[in-house]
Amino acid sequence: MIIAIDGPAGAGKSTVARKVSEILGFMFIDTGAIYRAVTYSLIKDNINLGNKEELECYLNRIDLIYTSDHIYFQGSIIDREIREEPISSKTSDYSKNPVIRSFATGFQRKLAENNDVVMEGRDIGTVVFPNADFKFFLTASHEVRGRRRYKELKKSDNGVSLEETIEAIRIRDKNDSNRELAPLKKAADAVEIDTSNIGIDQVIDAIIGYIRMED
Ligand code: C5P
Repeated sequence: MIIAIDGPAGAGKSTVARKVSEILGFMFIDTGAIYRAVTYSLIKDNINLGNKEELECYLNRIDLIYTSDHIYFQGSIIDREIREEPISSKTSDYSKNPVIRSFATGFQRKLAENNDVVMEGRDIGTVVFPNADFKFFLTASHEVRGRRRYKELKKSDNGVSLEETIEAIRIRDKNDSNRELAPLKKAADAVEIDTSNIGIDQVIDAIIGYIRMED
């Protein structure tokens, strides 16, 4: 079974999707982490995005392993590195690239071949799995999403302000929603949940309730 949870940065997708996957006993797949890891490795290895063949060749051989708990590049866990700047802002640029999107989409589909999955991202219900069994689209105001991301970032004490965080989210949303390929968009048949004024537990209950009712 495939459950798709899409939405913009800070809408609560990861927390909700992870919890829903635990309740159902499914594999949790954070596709943003995959785009981040690809961006991280391309920057680390100095790969030129302008050279399509070189990029394809690199991605064909990339040593990337995703599990529900960690993401590995060449055998090392890179969970922390992919959340740091400049990877966060660069990922939004890199994920516009058709070769990178095609690689990531294939990688995600493969993960779901032998597993029931809860997959979260931007284009899961529209492009990766248009026939997903269940589709949800989480939203929240810029302000609320900025505050959530700020709280997360503050844990690592990296000195960014709330205003900078809200602005970074606004730019990333604009980038993600306006790109030509697989933009951030609600699938016509997705259930939309605005998480601005409800707790994460209520969102999880709503999703589980919906799945159990329809299943
Ligand atoms: O979900 P997260 O904020 O970690 O995603 C990082 C970036 O990866 C997004 O801003 C977006 O540009 C890209 N992404 C994407 N398609 C997905 C998931 C993430 O383009 N399915």
